[in-house]
Amino acid sequence: MSNERKPLLSDEEIIDEQEAWNGPIDGGIVAKMSETYTARWVRDFYERLITEGKLRVVQEVELNYADGCSTCLCNCGWIQLREDDFNYCPGCGNKIKRP
Ligand SMILES: [Zn+2]
Repeated sequence: MSNERKPLLSDEEIIDEQEAWNGPIDGGIVAKMSETYTARWVRDFYERLITEGKLRVVQEVELNYADGCSTCLCNCGWIQLREDDFNYCPGCGNKIKRP
C-alpha cells in the first residue's frame, strides 16, 4: 500500500469544473490541459504545502472514552490511561469532535 496521498482535485475534476464554468474546451486533451494549466499549478502549489506539513487539512476525530481510557478513533494510535478534555488529539493533531 502506498503512503502517497491523492490530490484533492484530479486533473479530470479540474477540467470538468472549468468546462462547467466556461463551456466545453475544444481541441482534445492537449487543449484541455493547456486551458487548465493555472488551476492545476495552484492545486499543485497547495498540495506541496500539505505534503511538506506547512498546511493542514483539518479533520475532526472522535475519542472513545471507556474504562478510564481515552483512545483516538482515527487509528493514530494515541491512547491515554485517563479521561481528559483535549481540544486536539495529542497523537494526530486533529480537532476532537464534540457532540
Ligand atoms: Zn488521533
